[in-house]
Amino acid sequence: MTDTNAPLVIIGSGLAGYNLAKEVRKLAPEQPIMMITADDGANYSKPMLSTGFTKDKSAEQLVMASAADMAEQLNLVIRTHTRVTHIDPDRKNVFIGEEPVPYSKLVLAWGAEVVPPRFDGADSERVLAVNDLADYARFRQAAQDKRKILIMGAGLIGCEFANDLSNGGIEADVVAPCDQVLPGLLPAAAAKAVQQGLESLGVRFHLGPLVSRIEESAAGIRATLSNGEHVDADLVLSAIGLKPRIDLAVKAGLKVNRGICVDRQLQTSEPDIYALGDCAEIDGQVLLYVLPLMTSARALAKTLTGSATEVSFGPMPVTIKTPVVPVVVSPPKPELDGEWQIEVDGSAVRAEFRAPNGDLLGYALTGDKVSNKVALNKELPPLLP
Ligand SMILES: Cc1cc2nc3c(=O)[nH]c(=O)nc-3n(C[C@H](O)[C@H](O)[C@H](O)COP(=O)(O)OP(=O)(O)OC[C@H]3O[C@@H](n4cnc5c(N)ncnc54)[C@H](O)[C@@H]3O)c2cc1C
Repeated sequence: MTDTNAPLVIIGSGLAGYNLAKEVRKLAPEQPIMMITADDGANYSKPMLSTGFTKDKSAEQLVMASAADMAEQLNLVIRTHTRVTHIDPDRKNVFIGEEPVPYSKLVLAWGAEVVPPRFDGADSERVLAVNDLADYARFRQAAQDKRKILIMGAGLIGCEFANDLSNGGIEADVVAPCDQVLPGLLPAAAAKAVQQGLESLGVRFHLGPLVSRIEESAAGIRATLSNGEHVDADLVLSAIGLKPRIDLAVKAGLKVNRGICVDRQLQTSEPDIYALGDCAEIDGQVLLYVLPLMTSARALAKTLTGSATEVSFGPMPVTIKTPVVPVVVSPPKPELDGEWQIEVDGSAVRAEFRAPNGDLLGYALTGDKVSNKVALNKELPPLLP
């Protein structure tokens, strides 16, 4: 039996969950909504987590509103520190342990999880990752009075933290098994400009090797890299990647690939179950960024309130928060045929990825060249037409 008075249930109180709740409220002031979240439900902007040392902000200072304030503002029920453990699509219940919670429609907005680092040696309390506000609070606490941090990973989050920690007076060593920073996002010339900018702040790069062993010592940790090199540091920040949370979806029989597969209306393979934000894979694309989830939230709110609406994305360039060398990038889809055309002027790089017929398919801009983004965006094809 399904409960016909059951609320719309949203799992997750990140930017996806709260943006959706706001959009639904605009269209349906009386719709009962229950949000269930594993964390404390504080509303904060996750991108700020990699600018906190520059701005000297504690975790508390990054909170824009508490769960109680959000519940009042949005007229919804929030269950905080509550983890959904199971979904029964046939009976339209989510479970919190043994407790069933009925839903009329269910939205999975439970985000992405950190890819755990693998290395030999003891599991160390000095190896941390930052993917939510509680992680950030722990990292700030651990980094207090520390001088030197080893960052594993030279992607967006690793490079942003390298810049941020340097701005906060902490030395950073970046270790990553790739031959350039921001692999998969930037062509080599643009990556070089960013690396040199970060090096000018004192960041040391060890590109190529993996961290193969970490040992604790009284002074901190000693990392052994796969090329035999050693790096000593007070703490390790692991930034080797995020992957959409799919485990509960798999157990519930939903179709998954890299993320939870949804159609253009953000519906999963089960009727009345939708997904958005970092956990969703829309038409084959996993987009771990804010702009796509905001556009998705607007479309899904319409669908959930009775006007079936497909989501579409225009160009969605990503700004990388490395202020020493600003970066804006719209990476071309890997399957597209074309070539990079690159102009370099010191730290300013303008790289355009063009098809054989001259169409612009992607770009990367660094330094002063970021001002070209508005003109280039007009030429780019939409990400999801
Ligand atoms: C350091 C950092 C910097 C970033 N910078 C940028 C940037 O500059 N620009 C940009 O566009 N993007 C950036 N991103 C990515 C962006 O922040 C994310 O795409 C976005 O915040 C994801 O929101 P979400 O709501 O989908 O997931 P999350 O914010 O991860 O929220 C998931 C929610 O689900 C809850 N949850 C999980 N499992 C369960 C469960 N079983 N039961 C109940 N609740 C559960 C969690 O407690 C949480 O409330 C950054 C990410 C990081 C980590």
